[in-house]
Amino acid sequence: MHELSIVQNIVETTDAFAREHGVEKVSYVALKIGAATGIEERYVRMYFPDVAEGTALEGAEVRIEEVPEEAFCLDCGNVFNPRKSSDKCPECGCSVYDLLHGNELMIREIGYN
Ligand SMILES: [Zn+2]
Repeated sequence: MHELSIVQNIVETTDAFAREHGVEKVSYVALKIGAATGIEERYVRMYFPDVAEGTALEGAEVRIEEVPEEAFCLDCGNVFNPRKSSDKCPECGCSVYDLLHGNELMIREIGYN
């Protein structure tokens, strides 16, 4: 995955928001990351300090909430975690489903004083 560009995007968005609102220092940024995005938390944390340098996010804490995958079986309507059941509905064995959760990537909250 392209964690670096994702982190750059998050920092740019948050920094722009902070400037617009006259915030000089962001204390934390809370993210929601879906399990199906393939984004690895450790890389987000690894890139963040460098990318945030010189912005309102410098020294800010990164809080990450992982959203588990949740699928809706189009055959029987069962809701299940496709990762835990080899991409098949555990009720009917069907592998045609809609992903309800797991593709999230969003800034949930920004903290500042
Ligand atoms: Zn099913």
